[in-house]
Amino acid sequence: MTDTPTLTLFNSLTRQLEPFQPVHEGEARVYSCGPTVYNYPHIGNMRAYVFADVLGRTLSHKGYKLTHVINITDVGHLTDDADAGEDKMEKMARQQHQSIWDIAKHYTEAYWADIRALNIREPAKWSIATDYVPQMIEFAKSIADKHCYELDSGLYFDVSTVSDYGRLARAVTEEGEGRIEAVEGKHNAADFAIWRKTPEGEKRQMEWDSPWGKGAPGWHLECSVMSGDLLGFPFDIHTGGIDHREIHHPNEIAQNQAFCCKPGDPCGLDVPANSGARVWMHNNFLVERQKSGGAGKMSKSSGEFLRLQLLIDKGYHPLAYRMMCLQAHYRSELEFSWEGLGAALTRLKRMIMAAERLKDVAPGEARHPKLMPMLEAFEKAIGEDLNTPVALTALEDVLAAKKVDPAAKRAAVEAMDSVLGLDLFGTGRADLRLKPKGVEITEAEIEDVLTRRKQARADKDFATSDALRDELAAKGVEVMDGDPLGWEWKLG
Ligand code: AMP
Ligand code: ZN
Repeated sequence: MTDTPTLTLFNSLTRQLEPFQPVHEGEARVYSCGPTVYNYPHIGNMRAYVFADVLGRTLSHKGYKLTHVINITDVGHLTDDADAGEDKMEKMARQQHQSIWDIAKHYTEAYWADIRALNIREPAKWSIATDYVPQMIEFAKSIADKHCYELDSGLYFDVSTVSDYGRLARAVTEEGEGRIEAVEGKHNAADFAIWRKTPEGEKRQMEWDSPWGKGAPGWHLECSVMSGDLLGFPFDIHTGGIDHREIHHPNEIAQNQAFCCKPGDPCGLDVPANSGARVWMHNNFLVERQKSGGAGKMSKSSGEFLRLQLLIDKGYHPLAYRMMCLQAHYRSELEFSWEGLGAALTRLKRMIMAAERLKDVAPGEARHPKLMPMLEAFEKAIGEDLNTPVALTALEDVLAAKKVDPAAKRAAVEAMDSVLGLDLFGTGRADLRLKPKGVEITEAEIEDVLTRRKQARADKDFATSDALRDELAAKGVEVMDGDPLGWEWKLG
């Protein structure tokens, strides 16, 4: 689009903004920690994938050949990120009297439905953890002698065997994982299981033979193995939510150091290649206002379980949630509110209405003199650590620009939307008019009342016209005089 294809990203590991320098020229290889499929994802989880999607789209837009991998964790993630506790999948399967495989299938499909609804591009590969268990065992074998020790409960990684352990984390405590629940016999509180043995006399639904007995891989091991296998160490960027910056990613990094390190090399983290991925990026939380007044991280156990489907059931188009995410910088907390979501929907609607005027226009050359300042502002914003709030404004300025060749405008909007992913040309204003669940009136009935109301107004019978408007309002439909489509759902 312009001549400034620069991209600066915030690396959590070095805690600074760094120009993106690919490991392989012209390529960008990105791994994103995926969901643990024991339950539906909440919209906070989906913020992590909207962020990873914008990152991937930006890399593509800046001309890199993108290889993106997102994993599906269907084994090994315990109820706490700690080493004690129960496997989330095993627990849910037992509670629901179903096989783990059925649980995993159901929730993976639900997650993929949300991915599609949010217009998140498919990664090159969805890697399923249980498909990589033999590779995980090989990886563990290769680091076991120098970096691990065995306890009755499994094979543990000794964090004192790598330099700079925990550099990534902000809330560093002496205890690391051990702060949650200690495992007897650990050498250091922060040591973590890379293989968890099935306790004597127990049978797990998911277990594999290994040199350390029957059991299952640790969650951290999975991501090291899948990222290294599919993208090759070192690769470019590893993403996740900021909770992963504290335990999961420091442990992945420690394993990667152990795996990548050559004999005699101190293998510290000042050499970017030793951490497996050069750049570690983390999105901040979606938070909810708590009853106490403060705002807290959204989780599956707190308050109303905010799934994307709930938003849709209430009549909010899922892309309104994508818009809400884009309105905040990914490193800022974002507070969810229904009013905020309504405002995001209105903003999206305005943009889609403006884009509708360009729908049948063939894209031309975007670099129209009038559009250049906006194109440059957009490139600068997105290139400065994915500043989507500013990029959105540049896109709106293009949509509002007057006396510009429509072909240029169309091309500029297309290019910008290829990064923001609002699907402005694939979504019509009518598509945004989702009927909330529970509203019984049909669209044909609405049209019928509107026709009668139009007639009443033409007859200057304002009493009837008002009564018809109230009749619709009582059914959750708001009449909007002057609006090209005439009506809107009243969102409760
Ligand atoms: P999980 O399924 O728990 O492994 O989480 C999937 C992704 O969502 C991870 O990258 C988490 O860091 C991220 N995540 C979890 N809760 C939130 C939240 N409230 N806001 C944003 N991201 C979150
Ligand atoms: Zn992971």
